[in-house]
Amino acid sequence: MGLLIYIDGKFVDEKQAKISVFDHGLLYGDGIFEGLRTYSGKVFRLGQHIQRLYKSAKAIFLEIPISKDKMAEVIKATVRKNKLKDSYIRVVVTRGKGDLGLDPRKCSNPTVIVIASKIELYPEEYYRNGLSVVTIATRRNLIESLNPAVKSLNYLNNILGKIEATNAGAMEGLFLNNEGYVTECSGENIFIISGNFLCTPPISAGALDGITRDAVIQIGKTVGLDVSEKLLTRYDLYNADECFLTGTAAEIVPVTLIDGRTIGNGKSGILTCKIRKEFHNLVLKEGTPI
Ligand code: PMP
Repeated sequence: MGLLIYIDGKFVDEKQAKISVFDHGLLYGDGIFEGLRTYSGKVFRLGQHIQRLYKSAKAIFLEIPISKDKMAEVIKATVRKNKLKDSYIRVVVTRGKGDLGLDPRKCSNPTVIVIASKIELYPEEYYRNGLSVVTIATRRNLIESLNPAVKSLNYLNNILGKIEATNAGAMEGLFLNNEGYVTECSGENIFIISGNFLCTPPISAGALDGITRDAVIQIGKTVGLDVSEKLLTRYDLYNADECFLTGTAAEIVPVTLIDGRTIGNGKSGILTCKIRKEFHNLVLKEGTPI
């Protein structure tokens, strides 16, 4: 028996969990998704993830066929049925099966999929020594086109960024927006620390409204840092004392090299370590039991 997957109202073995080749999620990347985590049997910020999923759906005129409460139940049940305590959960809602044209009116039933599996993190050494990041030539999607706040199934912009970073020998790619301001990395939000200031670009610069980002803003204030969301340039990043990325899968991961400039002393900074520790306390303290 493999994993039990929730698909179209039923739990089935992963071998039977299939979608149509006419599903517009596949044909056009027409759909949305969420990535969540459970820690010791509790879902971190379940309500916030569900909120973001339904906001993404609204932005692309997609009617999720189940209520938010039902979605929460399905997510918890998927983790329970797979007997997982620490897991990574993927929720996918596609436009559903249509024809080969792109008209979404031909897709009557959105496909809802929930997968709960083991987590994949960066190897431990990256949490000590940090990641190398390079600025990539591909710009972040314009907010006036496909707004990066929508967690859409069309991740080609992000994937191109990841490929460019890999080709340049770096672990992550830094996206600038069309005006040259820092937005985020291909799969994580970005923060810098300079003195007592903790800064991250505003969502309106072209970033996902990250749930880990939100938790870190809260933690930053609790530990007495002066937190702000402001436009950042690469110059601000190069001259920061510390830099780190945030995301559900990666959690809080330090950055110690940006475009060949060493950040701080080339190891995870003191405040980054402190915020990471507080984050681990928070995920164990908070959370919705499965
Ligand atoms: N930005 C992008 C582009 C992402 O895909 C993600 C999620 N992997 C994040 C930021 C981080 O968001 P969250 O903390 O909600 O996982």
